[in-house]
Amino acid sequence: MIVQPKIRSNICLTAHPTGCARQVEAQIDYVLSRGPAPSSVRPSRNALIIGSSNGYGLAARIVAAYAFGASTVGVAFERPGGLEEGGRERLGTAGWYNDRGFLARAERDGKAAWSVNGDAFSPEIKAETIGLIRGHLGPIDLLVYSVAAPRRQDPVTGTLHSSVIKPIGQPFISKTLDFQSGVVSEICAEPAASQQEIDDTVKVMGGEDWRLWVEALADEGLLAEGATTMAFSYIGPRFTAPIYRDGTMGRAKEHLETTARALQGSMADRGGRAVVSVNKALVTRASAVIPAVPLYIALLYRVMKERGLHEACIHQMDRLFREHLPAEGPIATDAEGRLRLDDWEMREDVQAEVFRRWELAETDTIMTLADVTGFREEFLRFHGFGVEGVDYSAEVDP
Ligand code: NAD
Repeated sequence: MIVQPKIRSNICLTAHPTGCARQVEAQIDYVLSRGPAPSSVRPSRNALIIGSSNGYGLAARIVAAYAFGASTVGVAFERPGGLEEGGRERLGTAGWYNDRGFLARAERDGKAAWSVNGDAFSPEIKAETIGLIRGHLGPIDLLVYSVAAPRRQDPVTGTLHSSVIKPIGQPFISKTLDFQSGVVSEICAEPAASQQEIDDTVKVMGGEDWRLWVEALADEGLLAEGATTMAFSYIGPRFTAPIYRDGTMGRAKEHLETTARALQGSMADRGGRAVVSVNKALVTRASAVIPAVPLYIALLYRVMKERGLHEACIHQMDRLFREHLPAEGPIATDAEGRLRLDDWEMREDVQAEVFRRWELAETDTIMTLADVTGFREEFLRFHGFGVEGVDYSAEVDP
């Protein structure tokens, strides 16, 4: 079939198999161009990445495999491509093709890598992954938890919880950007309707499942002495705070950060460490549809690019692994115990300039103030489109 982007309401419904594999290769080549990780950081031999098919998790897996030389196991929940009943060809998700792309390249490069496709929240997928680790790898010394999920079934009660991105207490009225049309308009996001919506979001995107993974590995004797575990958070600027950090998702991130501090206690007993890294805002499937956030990201990209500070997922993960995980001694954190990889995004001059442009942003000024083109290109690249060297008029096998 010939695969083209199909975008509805800023969601891309198609993914290009070759394009996805190529953009994974480009990330791998970037890490290779930086050479092996320095001896000043704690090495990893066996890494487990939960949420490994996209965004930060995929980039973390690539750095673990190609800067540390680690054997990797990735867990992700993606729709495979293939044949439907009746023989009709069906496209998989971008994450599915990213994962295939990673495994194919890893095999060519002689890297040990396994992937599990299924619901990481479920006891079944935990058991399958642990069986695989026991059979092929031995104790895990790096566990990266990078799941971004819309829902989670509680493994004990069976209740299905859904996460929402909403303000708390009052509506959030703000400017926003439709990055496809370039129109700047006002939106109003209604607040969470009940405490239940907040609690559900914490249940899905808080730290409970991360803790369950750490405990499951430890119980099976598959967490190495001196292991590092990390998960990812976000803070962002004050003008998106009502919809993010002070909203339902912010509550989940607070829970994740509290979980890190609790895990640090048990990890330290075995010479290990647990940390939450606060990462930079990036274009992803989720951030493209959060009110106000596309406008902030488009402005931020332009300001950071002008200052030579722009980073994509792979650059952030490469900097994290090479510079922030010392072989000895504690990881440098803020007063809340968080590693701040968003230091360049949150620099005073960057934030002041983004805010100045935010005030000026209208439909007729946006293209001169913000990197709308960069936003669109990155959004498409995440789905395998607009990748250099790919012939989009050619037939591909889904
Ligand atoms: P993403 O959507 O690019 O990737 C999410 C991953 O989670 C995918 O591999 C997907 O397959 C996996 N996943 C989803 N549900 C799953 C399930 N039930 N079982 C197994 N795997 C599942 O997400 P991302 O933007 O890279 O976000 C990852 C983490 O980084 C999140 O905690 C997010 O809040 C955080 N973060 C994101 C940004 C940003 O701007 N994107 C910034 C800072 C922090």
